Amino acid sequence: MEYRYLGKSGLQVSELSFGSWITFGNQIDDSVSTRLMEIAYDHGVNFFDNAETYADGKSEIVMGNILSKLKWDRTSYLISSKAFFGDGGKLPNQTGLSRKHLIEACHAALKRLQVDYLDLYFCHRPDKKTPMHEVVWTMNHLIQQGKILYWGTSEWSALEIMEAHAVAEKYRLIGPVMEQPQYNLFHRQKVEVDYRKLYDTVGLGTTIWSPLASGLLTSKYLDKFPEGTRLGRKELEWLRASAHNEQRIDMARKLNALALEIDYTLPQLAVQWCRSNPNVSTVILGASKTSQLEENLATIDKPALTQEIKDKIEAIVDNKPVPPQW
Ligand code: NDP
Repeated sequence: MEYRYLGKSGLQVSELSFGSWITFGNQIDDSVSTRLMEIAYDHGVNFFDNAETYADGKSEIVMGNILSKLKWDRTSYLISSKAFFGDGGKLPNQTGLSRKHLIEACHAALKRLQVDYLDLYFCHRPDKKTPMHEVVWTMNHLIQQGKILYWGTSEWSALEIMEAHAVAEKYRLIGPVMEQPQYNLFHRQKVEVDYRKLYDTVGLGTTIWSPLASGLLTSKYLDKFPEGTRLGRKELEWLRASAHNEQRIDMARKLNALALEIDYTLPQLAVQWCRSNPNVSTVILGASKTSQLEENLATIDKPALTQEIKDKIEAIVDNKPVPPQW
């Protein structure tokens, strides 16, 4: 495993990391979650991603129990949480980015994860109703209290990230270090175009999610709709509607053929493609089975993608986002 600096911070994060959305405390047994964490850690993964909203807090409870059982050296791994969507309650102040919710969500995550501090704490979405200075001051306070070490955003626009930095600069506070955007062969705009100036100016790091487009960039959807997969889950019909369509399946078939030509599997090709972007600090993997995680982690042993292969990928997906000309 290789490690990259998280943007311009001094923190090193493994190029591949591991997250628990949909799976922990929900789709899979705790014994499988434990094995997944062990496999990831044994491969050199040092970042484990979580959020208050995953399984309404249960995902953090499961991960906390695993960490407490495995007793890894606390200096050897990074743990995150994210606040915004809440952990089930929908009363005023149980969601959003108010000082009250950010602080209460942080305390709840620390308790559930059974740790003294979060290495990374994300604003899971922008909150149009909370003033930016309230968010930045609160994150700065949490850092000063030692409850979080770095803070960041998820799915914020470049303008919102810059506004947070402007506030931080004005009051001499610590600004956001990282953003967690979706990034995969079907979804490229923010990482490749919108944030392009922020990598150099504010030194933005990225912890990217859904590298396999929720599993579509694997071979299992190519011929039929398989049983027992994420996109077939009743409560995720909204995800299937946005992620699964004939055009994407057609691209996945062509990408799969290309992957096999170079002794890759399709998920390995998709992960390697994300990893080959130098502005990606870490690719967060998800898995419901140990065999999936092993296959995806094996990407690190594959040769880098040549320019010729990248060009072939580009010709198949034909969706390279273009920066505006001004
Ligand atoms: P992926 O796009 O990689 O999807 C992972 C899912 O794809 C697995 O759970 C599994 O689902 C399937 N899969 C994975 N590998 C294979 C394989 N080799 N063969 C067949 N199927 C496979 O990543 P996620 O969408 O899970 O995102 C990764 C992490 O990013 C999350 O866990 C979370 O931590 C974070 N995230 C953050 C978000 C944000 O808003 N900040 C939003 C979403 C995720 P199955 O077996 O059920 O089909």
